[in-house]
Amino acid sequence: MSRVIKKLLIANRGEIAVRVMRTCRERGIATVAVFSDPDRSALHVRYADEAVHIGPPQPRDSYLRMDKIIEAARRTGADAIHPGYGFLAENADFARACTQAGLVFIGPKPEIIEKMGDKASARAAAEEAGVPVVPGSDGVVHTVEEAERIAESLGYPVLIKASGGGGGIGMALVKKPAKLARAFQSCQDRGASSFGNADVYMEKYIESPRHIEVQILGDQHGHLVHLFERECTLQRRHQKVVEEAPSSFVSQQEGMRERLCTAAVALAKQVNYQNAGTIEFIADQNGSFYFIEMNTRLQVEHPVTEMITNTDIITWQLKIASGEALTLEQSAIEATGHAIECRLYAEDPSNRFFPKPGEIETFEYPSDDDIRVDAAFTAPSTVTPYYDPMIAKMSVFADNRASAIARMTALLSSTHIAPLTTNRDFLLEVMKASDYEQNQVDTTWLERFAKSLHA
Ligand code: ADP
Ligand code: ADP
Ligand code: MG
Repeated sequence: MSRVIKKLLIANRGEIAVRVMRTCRERGIATVAVFSDPDRSALHVRYADEAVHIGPPQPRDSYLRMDKIIEAARRTGADAIHPGYGFLAENADFARACTQAGLVFIGPKPEIIEKMGDKASARAAAEEAGVPVVPGSDGVVHTVEEAERIAESLGYPVLIKASGGGGGIGMALVKKPAKLARAFQSCQDRGASSFGNADVYMEKYIESPRHIEVQILGDQHGHLVHLFERECTLQRRHQKVVEEAPSSFVSQQEGMRERLCTAAVALAKQVNYQNAGTIEFIADQNGSFYFIEMNTRLQVEHPVTEMITNTDIITWQLKIASGEALTLEQSAIEATGHAIECRLYAEDPSNRFFPKPGEIETFEYPSDDDIRVDAAFTAPSTVTPYYDPMIAKMSVFADNRASAIARMTALLSSTHIAPLTTNRDFLLEVMKASDYEQNQVDTTWLERFAKSLHA
C-alpha cells in the first residue's frame, strides 16, 4: 500500500526530533512537535511547523502517552508518526495504535517489533537464521534454581539481562554464585519497573569484547541491504559514548566485514525486516562475533553511517514506510573515509558519569563541510533532570581514522559550553589517549580510562 506523507508528527524530543524534522524540511513535509511542560520552548518545538502540548515532565505522563500523541496527530491532520529512539520507538502497541488510527508508523510492523524488540525471542530468531549468538540460556529463565544451573554450565562470569531492556538498563554482571540470586531478582524487578516486562535471560559474559553493529534497511517488497558496520566499543554503563564508521578493527580482520554484514542481512531477511534497524554484535579480540540484540528503530549513532555512505537514513525510513521501493542496490553502496561521533553529555566523568543537569548560557562550535553537530539545545537553555542528559552529537568526517581523530580533537577544542558540567574535556582526553589512537580498546576501556584520569 502506498501512502504519501505530507505532514509528520515526531513523537520524541531533543536532537533526534530536530534531526527527523530537518529531513522533512528538505523534502517539503510539514512537521508537528509534541512537548511536555519543561520543553515548552525547546529547540525541537521551535524548529517544528506546529507543536502540541502533551503533559507534565515525567515521560509516563507525556512522551509515553500514546493516546495523547495520537490525538495530537489527529488534531493537526498529520498522516504519519516518527517515534525517534527511546520512549515509544520499540513499543509494538504504539505501532499498532498508530495504524489503527489510520496513521503511518515510521518503523517495522508491530509483530516484528514484538519479536525482535524482545531480546530473548530475537536471540531465538538469530539461532534460526544460523547467526552465532553468545552462549546462554535457551530463552527466558524463570527461577533462581534454573539460573544457578545455567550459570554453572556456562561458567562464571555471566550476565543476566532483562528481555525488554535497553539503554544499558536491566543488565547485571554476576562473577560468583553467591551473588546470583540477588542479581536475578533485581534484574526481574528492573525489567518490570522500567520496561513493563519481568522476563530475564542469561548470557556468558564475554571478556574484553568490542561492540560492533550493522545498519540494515529493508522495504515492503522484500528488498534488503546493509549500510556496513559501526564500532561502538567506547561505553560507560553499557551505553555508547564514542562511535565510528567503519570499524578499523573489522578492517584488520581478514574477511570479517563480509561475514558480519552477511550474518546481519541473513537475520533481517529471516524475519522479513522492514524499515531501518540495527543488528548488534559483540566481537572477541580474535574477530569471532556473536549476536546480542536488534534495535528495531533509528539508532542514536546513525550519523556516522550517513557520513561514510553518503545516505540519508530518515529519507529512506519515510520512503519505505510510505510503500516506496528501496532503490539502493547492495553492490552500489560504498563506504568511503572515516567518521567519528562523540556524545556530548551533561554529566560528570569524575563522578562515575553522573548526570548533571544545568544551565547552558554559552554553546558555540565551528561549522564546516566535514563537521556535523546534531544538537538538542541552543544557548540559552536548560538541561532538565527529566530526560536523557545528552546535549549534542558532535561528528566529523575525514579520509582516514587518524585524520578523523585530529578533526574531532580540533572540533572539541573549539566547542565552548558553559556554565554546566559536561564531558567535553573528558572526550578530548579520549581523543588524545594512545590506547584510543592505536585502537587497543574494549567495552570496559572507557570507564577504566576515566578512573585513571581521576586517580
Ligand atoms: P543506541 O542503542 O541507539 O546506541 P543507546 O544505547 O544510547 O542508543 O540508548 C538506547 C535507547 O535507550 C535510546 O533510545 C535512549 O534514548 C534510551 N535511553 C537512554 N537512557 C535511558 C534511560 N536512562 N532510561 C531509559 N531509556 C534510556
Ligand atoms: P541494551 O539493550 O541495553 O543496549 P545490549 O544487549 O545491547 O543492551 O548490551 C549493551 C552492552 O552491554 C553491549 O554493547 C556490551 O558492551 C555489553 N554486553 C552485552 N552483552 C554482553 C555479553 N554477553 N558479554 C559482555 N558484554 C556484553
Ligand atoms: Mg544495545
